This record gives sequence, structure tokens and C-alpha cells, in this order.
Amino acid sequence: MEIKIAKREADKLIDICNKEKLKINKIILTHSHYDHTQKADELASKTNAAVYFHEDDYNEIKRVIKNPSITINKLRNNDEIKVGSIKIKVIHTPGHSPGAICLLFENKLITGDTLFVNAIGRTDLAGGDSIKLFESLQKLKKLKDDIEVYPGHDYGEIPFSTIGGEKKNNPYFMCNTKEQFLNLLGMF
Ligand SMILES: [Zn+2]
Repeated sequence: MEIKIAKREADKLIDICNKEKLKINKIILTHSHYDHTQKADELASKTNAAVYFHEDDYNEIKRVIKNPSITINKLRNNDEIKVGSIKIKVIHTPGHSPGAICLLFENKLITGDTLFVNAIGRTDLAGGDSIKLFESLQKLKKLKDDIEVYPGHDYGEIPFSTIGGEKKNNPYFMCNTKEQFLNLLGMF
């Protein structure tokens, strides 16, 4: 099922889930930035869902989770989250933010703002680190080529891609050395 919702519409998401007879009981945040977290408190308060995010983004995310009755679960690399019969593996991919994560299940990878179609996340915001992002991308390159990549923003010509496709077309993902990567970012 494809869900098209405008950004930040907690009620619309709840409506869609009600219609599909789905229950939201876990909310996983890929990183701390406001455009990815600002409705988490409202959505968790209205659904009683627990909120999951990487421990290295704790301080930033804690600021937007204001309701004290919301359950917070801090994640680490390689943690597994069960959603129904699906097991989601957490891959810590710092660089865009210290606690940025990608989520791997079946043949799908949710990449947040770490890897976009033909692009990557910014490293010039607070907590950003270009060398760490380079290292995180090397981690993702080890995944199989047919893994589908679902980014946190639809900036590319197509809304999603594959690891193999990004290896062929994404100039940042193609870099094999830190020097090449920093050069491309204009930092050398
Ligand atoms: Zn971001």
C-alpha cells in the first residue's frame, strides 16, 4: 500500500490507519531534525504508540517529546524492532546527525536523510559530520544491490531507488575515498 500524505499530518495518518484497520503502536524516528520529529509527540499521544530513536539524538528529540506518558526507547546499532511479523534492523549511520539511523527490513531500506536518490543529506547543520557520513555510506554500500532505498525526502527524479542504482548514479555514493568525497562536497 502506498500512503501519500503531506508532511506533518498526524490526523491524516491516523485516519488512513483506521480505514485500513491498522494500529500505530511504534513510531521510529530516523533522526532528530524538526521536519522528521515535530508531530511525533501528537501522534504518540493520540495513539499510545512508543517512540524509538537512536540514543545519540536523545537530547534533541527529548525536546519535542513533551508528553511524559509517552514511552521512549533508545536504539543502538544492530538493534531489532519487531513490527507484527516483520523484524526491522537498525543501522546507525551518523553524519547528517549524530544519531541518524537507517532501517532495514525484508529487501527495503528506509534511509531518512542519510541517502537520497542521487544525493545525500546535508552535513552543515548542527551535529553534522562529513567524514562520519562518508563512513556511514560505506556501511550501506555493503548491502545487496537489489535492496530498495526509500529516502526521507523525494528530491530525486524517482521517489525511490536501489543500492545498486545508487552505486551507478549517485556521485556521492560512488566515492571510495574520503578525499574524493570531501572534494565533491567542496570541502577540499
Ligand atoms: Zn534531516
